[in-house]
Amino acid sequence: MRIPRSIDELAKMFDRLPGVGPRAALRYAYWLAAQPKPLAHRFAEAAKHLAEQVKTCDICGAWTDESPCSICSDPGRDAGLLCIVANSQDIRVMEDAAIFRGKYHVLGGLIDPVEGKTAERLSVQRLLSRIKSNPAEIKEVVLALDPDVLGDTTALYLSRQLSESNVPVSRLARGIPTGAQIEYADEATITDAYINRRKN
Ligand SMILES: [Zn+2]
Repeated sequence: MRIPRSIDELAKMFDRLPGVGPRAALRYAYWLAAQPKPLAHRFAEAAKHLAEQVKTCDICGAWTDESPCSICSDPGRDAGLLCIVANSQDIRVMEDAAIFRGKYHVLGGLIDPVEGKTAERLSVQRLLSRIKSNPAEIKEVVLALDPDVLGDTTALYLSRQLSESNVPVSRLARGIPTGAQIEYADEATITDAYINRRKN
């Protein structure tokens, strides 16, 4: 039996989601077909609402329904601390940790020469002009980038770009992930954890 066109069309949309393959996509489409009809309408309405509402913050570049976003427009946050993240969703992780009380800047990815993602395609110029327009205000730039090759490449590039501004640049320390056992940590992790060791 052939797949009904309505199910096939939806499955093709699910197939475009990151991490979802064609089999899972088809399973989701069949699952939604079996649910009460209002649920499928709610899916469609939520996607439509997203398309109509979501935009990037004019200041930090994060996804938001209102620009400036709630963090950029919060006078209680320290404008002298700027945390650089690759993607909007990384802000969520930092906010959940509740340790950072400054503001953010979203790069829109990491430098990835293989994928053709050059520094020009990231919002580096906007970051530099943001810092230049407030040279006295910015006390520290914190790079919260992945501890891998792409994160390292991007961090090095940003450090060079920011060296002219004389703003202190730091990067999140690497170490043993919480809950992980030292026995299973790889050498790079152990080395980073040792180099960045703190007084106990
Ligand atoms: Zn913002």
